[in-house]
Amino acid sequence: MQDAKRQYEIIAQHGLPVWVMESVRGGRLASLGERYDAMLKQAKPDWSIPSWAFRWLMGLPNVTMILSGMTTMEQIRDNVATFQKGEALTQEQQMLLTNVAAGYQSRLAVPCTACRYCCDGCPEHIDIPRWINLYNELHLTHDKGAWERAMEEAINPTACIGCGQCTSHCPQSIDVPGYLSKLSAWPVS
Ligand code: SF4
Ligand code: SF4
Repeated sequence: MQDAKRQYEIIAQHGLPVWVMESVRGGRLASLGERYDAMLKQAKPDWSIPSWAFRWLMGLPNVTMILSGMTTMEQIRDNVATFQKGEALTQEQQMLLTNVAAGYQSRLAVPCTACRYCCDGCPEHIDIPRWINLYNELHLTHDKGAWERAMEEAINPTACIGCGQCTSHCPQSIDVPGYLSKLSAWPVS
């Protein structure tokens, strides 16, 4: 959701309960990278990284439902343990998470949440979030080998015809054809 903070405030002003979907953004927030994971682990070694997101949400008084996709038994156990304790973040932990989130976001070139709202309308059946994710990785790693291996796939960014269907469906208004064009040739800028 765009501007989720404002949306939350509007719902709260009307006294309505808030249900949160994609609380770890389809798994993208399950790991924030070595540096930021280490900062959270140092503060709370026994907490999983996703549990920080749940605990932050627990501190919002109007949130009455937190949804989380789970694909393994380990994730189910971790989530059950987190919600059994129902332990929201302290003020210090909230400040730490805010700092970690700011650092993490500054490293991401494109704020794609992998929601896939763009994918249905693509006439070329391009797996758009997969390629945006690669763009973000290359932005950090400049790994030419990773780009070459990815470009061997049958449907790659060169298939994009620039119709703009994806961008019109994207909640983040991401210029998908622009990034696919950048991915079509090395070096990816
Ligand atoms: S602009 Fe490219 S990626 Fe977007 S819907 Fe059209 S063909 Fe697909
Ligand atoms: S490009 Fe936009 S619509 Fe597509 S997956 Fe990313 S955030 Fe969602």
